Amino acid sequence: MSEQESSEAQTVEHFQFICKQCGFELDHEIGHNSLVCQSCGEVEPIETESFNVFHANPYDSTVLKLIHKEPNEVHHHVRCDTCGAGFDFAKDTHADECPYCGSNIVVPVNLQRQLVPDAIIPFDIKEQQANESFQKWIKGLWFAPNSLKRLAMRKHPIQGTYIPYWGFDADTYSQYSGQRGTNYTTTVTVRVDGKTQTRLVTKIRWRSVRGHVTHEFDNVLVPASELLSQKLTTSMKKWNLTKSQNYSPKYLSGYKSELYQIGLPRAYKYSQEIMTRYIRRLVRRDIGGDHQRISSLNTRYERVGFKLMLMPLWVSAFLYNKKTFQFIINGQTGEVKGERPYSWVKILSLVLFIAAVGAGIYFAQNR
Ligand SMILES: [Zn+2]
Ligand SMILES: [Zn+2]
Repeated sequence: MSEQESSEAQTVEHFQFICKQCGFELDHEIGHNSLVCQSCGEVEPIETESFNVFHANPYDSTVLKLIHKEPNEVHHHVRCDTCGAGFDFAKDTHADECPYCGSNIVVPVNLQRQLVPDAIIPFDIKEQQANESFQKWIKGLWFAPNSLKRLAMRKHPIQGTYIPYWGFDADTYSQYSGQRGTNYTTTVTVRVDGKTQTRLVTKIRWRSVRGHVTHEFDNVLVPASELLSQKLTTSMKKWNLTKSQNYSPKYLSGYKSELYQIGLPRAYKYSQEIMTRYIRRLVRRDIGGDHQRISSLNTRYERVGFKLMLMPLWVSAFLYNKKTFQFIINGQTGEVKGERPYSWVKILSLVLFIAAVGAGIYFAQNR
């Protein structure tokens, strides 16, 4: 097989949404359930319904049917309808622009991943608003170097990107055993310089306890992207899911979109870690007293359900002191999460200032 044929063989089918009036391309219109022509302004509604936030797919039966528990890496090869150029999408990307003519191209998700997103939260925030949110964020950072704030004044290219998130529901029943600690005061006798003195001391009395707590978890979010910093995407927690729509590839026209890289079973394990952290807080509250110890905790998960959702993020990075710092802006709310550099000079001067004030108070009291 020649090289030409082999690359032709991998070429995947794709969508390019074209204006019926003038033949130019359509982009998703931010803030609306429609596509809009970039040339003549013709509007075409996206025929889809609001996503039912209470819907969840059964976890156990779905995972049994999965052929690949963890997805393999894919590079889609696409031939652009507009300019005819063939090219590869970046790893695990299924929507992007043609690098030669800028046309929007969307590859159907189900070609390479068995599970198709249930829902999508369309972009509500425009690029300019996202940039303004970022500048406000960086200017408000404590202990940020001044040169960074100057850097923020410059415009950063940001990319509208849909990132997949898993959302898990589960009813949990947790049995625990542990100890409740109660403070009590007692007097002790000590000898100081040969004289006997009594002092009050606080001690803890421990009692064994057992019990159970229950909790119904709803939409525990686990980001399914490994291309972006997991720490960043995990920290982006506030989404208004009531504004989500049933998935349609039309929403992706004009943006980049990622396929999930963290498979369903692995994501479920992460969600259980998140749930366990919350359950431990419930157990501590249930134990009560002044101190709590948890010696054993067994949780039964029932009625486990999941959904796969695409979330809108404006993504960018800046280079500072030869290091790259990623930042993301919530495409629905404008909330910013970012990695950030610290000015050690500023932190050190504050620490020294606090120490000096502390020393001043000490000397004043002991004069
Ligand atoms: Zn048009
Ligand atoms: Zn092209």
